[in-house]
Amino acid sequence: MKIMVMDVIEYTTSDGPGFRTSIYCSGCNHKCRNCQNPQTWNIMNGKPVDVEDLFLKVYRNEMSNVTFSGGDPFYQPTAFAELAKMIKEKTNKTIWCYTGFTYEQILRDEKMSNLLKYLDVLVDGEFVQELHDPDLLFRGSSNQRLIDVQASLRKGKVVLDRHDPFDIYEQCEEHSRLCAAV
Ligand code: SF4
Repeated sequence: MKIMVMDVIEYTTSDGPGFRTSIYCSGCNHKCRNCQNPQTWNIMNGKPVDVEDLFLKVYRNEMSNVTFSGGDPFYQPTAFAELAKMIKEKTNKTIWCYTGFTYEQILRDEKMSNLLKYLDVLVDGEFVQELHDPDLLFRGSSNQRLIDVQASLRKGKVVLDRHDPFDIYEQCEEHSRLCAAV
């Protein structure tokens, strides 16, 4: 199986915590206003790459975890699920995935929700210019969420990932509460 790929960048630090091998696919129909990568919208702008070759690139980079981005990987859910399954079966790497779909939209589609099984964190939702905030961690606009996918699937509701700033605020509040009680 092949994935239509625009680029693969190793050792990036902008698509999740730590060093990551980021796979940027082609194909996206969300057409968000002020998208930074409109050249990725047309899936034919990418080139087909074997899932096995992408896996080897990920596997050989011992230092890096993995991020799927684009474009939108959820327009090629079956091939990405195959790659993600290989990564999870043969490595201990975490997988982050960016998408313009919401978590709830993905759950309603069988092929797309199958990819969720292998993801650690989903950054979901379209980019909304009016909600753009350069201080947000790993996302462009405040409607987008950093979702702990496995906890969300287990609990049957969205659980935010601990890297979400709102979660950090909650931790600070909890810390303050504990300090005040001493
Ligand atoms: S989902 Fe991402 S790649 Fe697609 S149009 Fe929106 S910002 Fe651009």
